[in-house]
Amino acid sequence: MEAIINQTKLSIIQGDITKQATDAIVNAANPSLMGGGGVDGAIHRAGGPAILEECKQIVAKQGRLPTGKAVITTGGNLKAKYVIHTVGPVWHGGGRNEAALLASDYHECLKVATAHKLASISFPSISTGAYGYPVSEAARIAISTVVPFLKEQATPIKEVTFVLFDSRTYESYCSAFQEVIGKNPHLVHLPIAA
Ligand code: ADP
Repeated sequence: MEAIINQTKLSIIQGDITKQATDAIVNAANPSLMGGGGVDGAIHRAGGPAILEECKQIVAKQGRLPTGKAVITTGGNLKAKYVIHTVGPVWHGGGRNEAALLASDYHECLKVATAHKLASISFPSISTGAYGYPVSEAARIAISTVVPFLKEQATPIKEVTFVLFDSRTYESYCSAFQEVIGKNPHLVHLPIAA
């Protein structure tokens, strides 16, 4: 599924984010930036030790990465030139500011990509694996953060791709997208293509 928002193509696909050739891919990291399971482990395995090396330097300089923030490193051996690491909120039932923190992840990643003049970025479904965030709510937050950013901010980003690993997550993001666009048809300049 895809649509054009301002000058940017927004796509939702099912796949493996480590294979993406966008300028940057986003990693759902943990505050230590030392790698882990899920998409984090997959990115470090595919990208090789150069990513971890830069992560260690960042932590030595500025400490652990707070939830809701983002930092950029090399993409190492990945097709992507960069990895933008962000820490999603752990789901505790919704009363611990999870929604605002998750929105901040997407916003901060887009800000970092914009500051580095990147033309394309891919996102995984942040927080919906080990961190337990309900997928349909997380999808709604992801889409309703990214779409207004593209509409309102001056950015060199020409392509944003959500790369969802499993079909259930993919379907949730497609539904969230249709819901957000349905409520805000003025946001999209071209008809949504299936
Ligand atoms: P978190 O700790 O933020 O919940 P996880 O990595 O556990 O992060 O899960 C986040 C999402 O990333 C899940 O939907 C999981 O299925 C997905 N995922 C795992 N591996 C990949 C991959 N290679 N490409 C894209 N998404 C992936």
